Amino acid sequence: MTARVLDGRALAADLRRDLADRVARLATTSAGRTPRLAIFRNGGSPAAAMYAAGLERVAKGIGLETSTVEEPTAALLGRVAEANRDPTVAGIVVAYPLEDPEGAQRVIELIVPDKDVDGATPTNAGRLLRGEPAFVPATALAVIALIEAHGVRVAGRRAVIVGRSAVVGRPVASLLLARDATVVICHRATPDLAVETRRAELLVAAAGVAGLITRDMLDPSAIVIDCGINTAGDGVIRGDVDPAVADVVAAMTPVPGGVGPVTPMMVLRQTVESAERLAGATGRS
Ligand code: NAD
Repeated sequence: MTARVLDGRALAADLRRDLADRVARLATTSAGRTPRLAIFRNGGSPAAAMYAAGLERVAKGIGLETSTVEEPTAALLGRVAEANRDPTVAGIVVAYPLEDPEGAQRVIELIVPDKDVDGATPTNAGRLLRGEPAFVPATALAVIALIEAHGVRVAGRRAVIVGRSAVVGRPVASLLLARDATVVICHRATPDLAVETRRAELLVAAAGVAGLITRDMLDPSAIVIDCGINTAGDGVIRGDVDPAVADVVAAMTPVPGGVGPVTPMMVLRQTVESAERLAGATGRS
């Protein structure tokens, strides 16, 4: 392997130390109150359960309180409304998928944008698209955190994103555009993916297809960020990028150990930012 490794585990450890300090400071300045992250879920999806459990674990690690509510959608709506009003709740996260897509949309739209620490609401999506300060989907922020932590230049570079979902591809595009990259977004209907990816100076893969990006599809100078978390029957986690790509490109995130461990830290970072703002707004800082 010749590519420089863009290590997400080391970055997550650095972020954890910084956030733990900030939470400890908040606890001393906010009348001893620890800020809380409220997590909502239903429907029994294993992916949602894993996301919620992962967030609870990392939040605990930095001294942040969490509460997880698992109820049918009608009841969940009432609980989100309570969390919106509760001054001890700094952040609200919905672990997807919920039991019904329509209900999920209603729950998301109810979250007050200032506590929407996973950037799920249409208000925050709109702010991001307009280049305004916003809470951003955590995976997209993790991509930027990895790029910046490793001193990768973005301005003026051609960034190619594979995937256009609301949680990864689109917000990554907005964040890179805000940092002066020239952005190309590819998707299922892109006629010749390799033609686009070969021109990438920065490639972000977020397609959800194991091994979609192969070494013949990339320039040796490319910097590759792989958001893919794909599990096959064998239980092995694979990225969207073939690991053999590491033999030809300049830098690459590993899977696992790249974007994955940084993502929950971005939810926590936005929760701590919200808590700091709340503490300031109520004169407790
Ligand atoms: P999604 O299914 O919502 O979107 C996939 C996108 O990729 C779509 O826009 C689709 O058009 C595009 N796509 C699919 N196949 C393609 C192909 N052959 N060529 C070109 N484009 C193609 O997925 P998502 O929720 O955005 O997730 C993408 C990947 O990121 C998944 O592997 C997911 O597990 C992972 N993910 C990781 C994290 C994390 O914390 N690291 C968080 C969220 C999602």
